[in-house]
Amino acid sequence: MLASRPPLGQVPARSNTSGTALPPKLLVLNAGSSSLKFKIFGVDPLVAGMGGMFDRIGDKANCTLKASAPDPSGGKSRKWDLKLPAGDHTAALREILAFISDHVSGSFSREVVAVGHRIVHGLDISQPVLLDERALGRIREAAVFAPLHNPAGLQGIEAAQSVFQGVPQVAVFDTAFHATMPAYAYMYGIPYELYEKHQIRRYGFHGTSHKYLVEQAAAMLGKPVSETNVITCHLGNGSSVAAVVGGRCVDTSMGMTPLEGLLMGTRCGDVDPAVVLHIENQLGLSAQETDNLLNKKSGLLGVTGSSDLRAVIDAAQRGEGRAQLGLDMLVHRIKKYIGAYTAVLGGKVDAVVFSAGIGENSSLLRGLVLQDMQGLGMELDPEANQAAVGGRQGDIGAPSSRVRLLVIPTDEELSIAQQTLQLVQEAREGAGAAATDGGSGSAGVTARAA
Ligand code: AMP
Repeated sequence: MLASRPPLGQVPARSNTSGTALPPKLLVLNAGSSSLKFKIFGVDPLVAGMGGMFDRIGDKANCTLKASAPDPSGGKSRKWDLKLPAGDHTAALREILAFISDHVSGSFSREVVAVGHRIVHGLDISQPVLLDERALGRIREAAVFAPLHNPAGLQGIEAAQSVFQGVPQVAVFDTAFHATMPAYAYMYGIPYELYEKHQIRRYGFHGTSHKYLVEQAAAMLGKPVSETNVITCHLGNGSSVAAVVGGRCVDTSMGMTPLEGLLMGTRCGDVDPAVVLHIENQLGLSAQETDNLLNKKSGLLGVTGSSDLRAVIDAAQRGEGRAQLGLDMLVHRIKKYIGAYTAVLGGKVDAVVFSAGIGENSSLLRGLVLQDMQGLGMELDPEANQAAVGGRQGDIGAPSSRVRLLVIPTDEELSIAQQTLQLVQEAREGAGAAATDGGSGSAGVTARAA
């Protein structure tokens, strides 16, 4: 890891029944509608430990818990794959904690000093927030734009609140990093009342990843984040690009929902809105069927028959025309966004960053995207490009490239852990200061900017 982490300060350890201080731990949770991902972090220094996922929650006969833990001596990580029943997220969390208790530490539940939750949509909330009634209300309000994700996130929060009573819980939003976009970038060209009354605008997603990539890129370039201009490409099953000036996002390709922008695994990305109307009016699909078609049956899957870029590349190399078309479409759109965001940054681009499943692993895709981009100051070093795969960080630009071309493995959980710890520490300091001033000690432990 290259980036210097923000100072986290001291979060006091909890103690066991005999009063001995326990090693403080942090738990990061990412709840889906029927899944619960988790990762443990040691605090001071912040170090990742066991992580995993409880899947098929509610389908008691088929629930699985998959987990892996790094080997402290640097060997192969240990892996588990178990069948455990769980009727809801709270039951799943209890199973996860029992598992951690058996394999990591018997007192783990008492070691946890804070829980960080990944929440997809936070409207225009620009920072992580300590969860209180107001913050929960905003997450519920935002569910209209993320009807699958936000209610699931709330289930994860409910589960953690019932298990870790009195432990601070923090929501880190996928949208937050993009809250700095100027209005001319986030507004749609539709009647203004739709923004005023219904909050219809671009929000952007993958913000935790983009933020992390910007910090890592600045560290690789040896510059402060505040002086670094970057185009970050998070290219996975879901994909987005962001234009970032001095650490502040100024534009991003996803919109009111994650459907807009690049061609994705199963999402269409940019389409003429008239296509949607045509599908509904002329082909007779309901709104729900159209939603399903655009989110789940489009993108690479819709064009080529597979949402997995590896399969698409293999098929294209066998000469299958549709696979080649899907690959060309994907490449063309990434190029378009890099070009557009180079213009948005006034040509002053320090680096283009590639990350996530595709960006970190497919040297072929990166090579195609960066082909003939010398006019934008981007020149690839083919050997460095080949080498930067499988989770390896690298600078894949030729020495003559004016813009650095970076491959950086993303780590959203680490970023959530960093942000959670920082906020809990700030809240403690705020509460301490308020107490010293004679104010209420709880005053500092409320949600930040909302
Ligand atoms: P993610 O959502 O970040 O897990 O990324 C998933 C995407 O990464 C899928 O489309 C995979 O096909 C793609 N991917 C993973 N490894 C490779 C690879 N070696 N070459 C091409 N695509 C890959």
